[in-house]
Amino acid sequence: MADRAKPVLGVIADDFTGATDVASMLVRSGMRTVQVIGVPQGLVPEADAVVVALKTRTVPAAEAVQESLDALKWLKAAGARQIYFKYCSTFDSTPEGNIGPVADALLDALGSEFSIACPAFPENGRTVYRGHLFVGDTLLSDSGMRHHPLTPMNDANLMRVLQAQTKGKVGLIAFESVGPGVAATRERMAQLRTEGVRLAIADAIDNQDLRTLADACADLPLITAGSGVALGLPAAYEARGWLKLDARAADLPGVGGFGVVLSGSCSTATNAQVRHWIEAGRPALQIDVLALAAGKSLAQGAIEWATPRLVEGPVLVYATAGVEQVKAAQALLGVEQAGLLVEQCLADIAAGLAERGVRRFVVAGGETSGAVVQALDVQQLRIGGTIDPGVPWTQAVGRELLLALKSGNFGAVDFFAKALALTA
Ligand code: ADP
Repeated sequence: MADRAKPVLGVIADDFTGATDVASMLVRSGMRTVQVIGVPQGLVPEADAVVVALKTRTVPAAEAVQESLDALKWLKAAGARQIYFKYCSTFDSTPEGNIGPVADALLDALGSEFSIACPAFPENGRTVYRGHLFVGDTLLSDSGMRHHPLTPMNDANLMRVLQAQTKGKVGLIAFESVGPGVAATRERMAQLRTEGVRLAIADAIDNQDLRTLADACADLPLITAGSGVALGLPAAYEARGWLKLDARAADLPGVGGFGVVLSGSCSTATNAQVRHWIEAGRPALQIDVLALAAGKSLAQGAIEWATPRLVEGPVLVYATAGVEQVKAAQALLGVEQAGLLVEQCLADIAAGLAERGVRRFVVAGGETSGAVVQALDVQQLRIGGTIDPGVPWTQAVGRELLLALKSGNFGAVDFFAKALALTA
């Protein structure tokens, strides 16, 4: 058997769109990347980086830890030199975790005593300054994230947020170390280690800071971060002679067939994208969550609604709603049950539409994407070119099926139409 190249990097991502986001970052910088859905079994895909997409952001901590450790075991067996635990650029977690518990467990399993934690993604307005996370011009705690249906974030002080979730000591690599470059960053990391710090929040306000952090951390067994730090890793690996960057890493085959948008995210950005689609006069159908709650099955009706319209062009089916509507549904059903009902409905619609010839799916929402990908029985995605920062087109490996999986907060206001136009 031919000798298969081993992946240099193994990524463990806590949700589907987060996985795609970090994969996109790696591809953009020249690493051939495959995303694997769930804890992988069997063959390692031929790629420079393998990203394991879990759905562990909001599950109980023990479950998140176990799945992450299973993914780690597979990635290490596949030969990955470095492991990257990827979470959301808004540091989404419940008060109990799971960022801290998973980072702790991965460090222990790798026999390592130190890593950084840095959700910054400046191109998308997420910056970290003095350990505080900003979304655009506002602190995280003043952003739309305070209303998130599953992980409301009310504290922008990441040291405090993380310290509440980990048994290790949390420290800070502040701007005055990251700004001057790799040597100063390494020096600060060494100092923090002597002080017994296990996880250090790292400041980053632009892409240069991310490159500095990547280079300073490329030899650590584990990096924990949003997708941003991945931006600098390919160059850091090439400089170490671990791989050769590939200018065509983002190439995907063309795929025909109908296109749809399925939206289950209730983020501020997605609400604006849904409005923009409707205001442009494009066909859209809203899923009535209260009807779902009353036990109605709405998937078949949505499929029947969409089918005749698809020949004219793409359609949108959405559960996306404003804060008040989401609260009303949650009051009736509970947060988790409301989420699951909507996810299941959109997943059923995806499966039905695939049977009717839809081959290009744009999906808004991390959890929603997870449910849709599962319904379409997709196990591996080859990552293609970027649509908007953090969101690439992807191809189900070996199938005529393209998916753009968008994390709630991502994408410009015209994201849906733009994405579909790119594949038409
Ligand atoms: P994001 O990427 O914005 O976090 P997700 O899909 O991860 O989006 O999470 C949004 C959650 O909100 C999902 O569980 C989804 O099913 C749920 N949801 C969507 N629409 C509604 C609604 N109208 N009422 C209550 N929950 C909803």
